[in-house]
Amino acid sequence: MSYVPPVLVVDDDLSLAPALTLSIETVGLPVEHCTTAEVAIELVKSRQYGCVVLDLILEPGTSGIYVVNAVRGLAPQNRPPVVMMTGANIENVRGIDRDIVKAILFKPLDLELFAQYVLATYRRSLDLRSAAGAALLPPPVRTFCGGCGSEIPAWTGSDENLFDGWLDAPCTNCGITPRDGGGRSEWSG
Ligand SMILES: [Zn+2]
Repeated sequence: MSYVPPVLVVDDDLSLAPALTLSIETVGLPVEHCTTAEVAIELVKSRQYGCVVLDLILEPGTSGIYVVNAVRGLAPQNRPPVVMMTGANIENVRGIDRDIVKAILFKPLDLELFAQYVLATYRRSLDLRSAAGAALLPPPVRTFCGGCGSEIPAWTGSDENLFDGWLDAPCTNCGITPRDGGGRSEWSG
């Protein structure tokens, strides 16, 4: 029997977290939940996870970025991919590590598609770590402006798509940036 690493959901929104965990269980993955960055950091240091789903803004004064930094401190073969979620406005975020953070997803989330995205990210991470089997690409994310609803480029952690630049890029339709206006994410395919 090989160990099946769970997904770790880090979210202090107790009205949303049960739905997130249930949607991940529904696609067949084991899942754990915690509400604080402190607990999440202890967990990622002590256990192996297939994927970490992280709210960007946790309790006042703590940030999901601390968890990302803890993941970066792990040995490369032990680093789970991070899928970051955020509500609306993003403040004081600099230098997201795109090697670790695979996507930024805006709430509200379509839970069924969210779970498919987590599943694909999870499988891909395990495939890459074991260097066995075909790597499964996550479905492409589409992101829509929080101001006017027009489609804007999604942030997906690629080299050409630096997070800070993306965050401050105004919508070509209404001029609102993701940092100020947030947005909405969904998946195609
Ligand atoms: Zn817009």
